[in-house]
Amino acid sequence: MLHKIMAFAAVVSLTACGEQLTLKDNEIGDYYAFSTSVLKNAGGARTETAPADAPFNFEDVVRNFSELAFVSNDPDGGTGQVAPWLLNRMIRWETPVRLEVFSDPDTDPRVLRALERDVRDFAAQLRRVTRHDIRLARPGEAVNAPIGLLSRKGQRVYAYGIAQAGGNFRSTSDFVATSPHDVFCYVLPGSEGPRSYPIVGAFTVIKRELPQPYYRYCVHEELTHLMGLANHNNGRPTILNSDQEFALLTKQDEIMLAMLYDRRLRPGMTLDDARPLLPAIARDAIRRLGAGRYISRSGGGT
Ligand SMILES: [Zn+2]
Repeated sequence: MLHKIMAFAAVVSLTACGEQLTLKDNEIGDYYAFSTSVLKNAGGARTETAPADAPFNFEDVVRNFSELAFVSNDPDGGTGQVAPWLLNRMIRWETPVRLEVFSDPDTDPRVLRALERDVRDFAAQLRRVTRHDIRLARPGEAVNAPIGLLSRKGQRVYAYGIAQAGGNFRSTSDFVATSPHDVFCYVLPGSEGPRSYPIVGAFTVIKRELPQPYYRYCVHEELTHLMGLANHNNGRPTILNSDQEFALLTKQDEIMLAMLYDRRLRPGMTLDDARPLLPAIARDAIRRLGAGRYISRSGGGT
């Protein structure tokens, strides 16, 4: 039975104060148009993958990996507490990932096909970078990582369906039914139980009311989390930056994903276990990906 590990999410924080306001379902699209323009005006949602104004050096790669790949309390996700047995441990898949895209019955089929293309392309990128077996499921094949493009109503219907499965899915269902609007998209990865660190399944939800370019941004961020890069930090350039500065997987992110799937590392390892191995693993990942030209020789970013 799938056991929910934690929730990872792309959250845009707009300061909340005063009385609790709620949105009607038909107002959510306006809210996302507003909040994404705020993000854009603040310099967020950039689509470069090797930005000239955010150089990074070898030490940055090692430091960002150690900050992103070992589960922290994830203060930016704000989507649920982390079990104590997970803290400071590495998680990743050891078995194939089979993705499927679905949506509300009234979603324009062209929109759903475009999302499916984005998922197919990004899965191919992840496969190349990690050498892990991740792709869209073929017809009839078992799916362990469904991706729902869902309206608020669709999320409630999906939550009800998940709850009907019983077992350990109660908290997953509750989250799907009630996730805050400022969570644009999220992934809920699961393991086989407490103290089991390989990811064996994951639910991903993308809010359908978002502007359409965000569907792809959500695919990049949530599938990056889904692979096991758990945290956010202040590093640059990374899609996991807390400020949501970058919307697509960066070259540095590719290196970190390659490191995560290096066979010298194991799910459940602590940072203390892994630290002595990281420089060699980073060097090998950079060499294999031919990413040396992206590494700054001088001081890097933060
Ligand atoms: Zn995130």
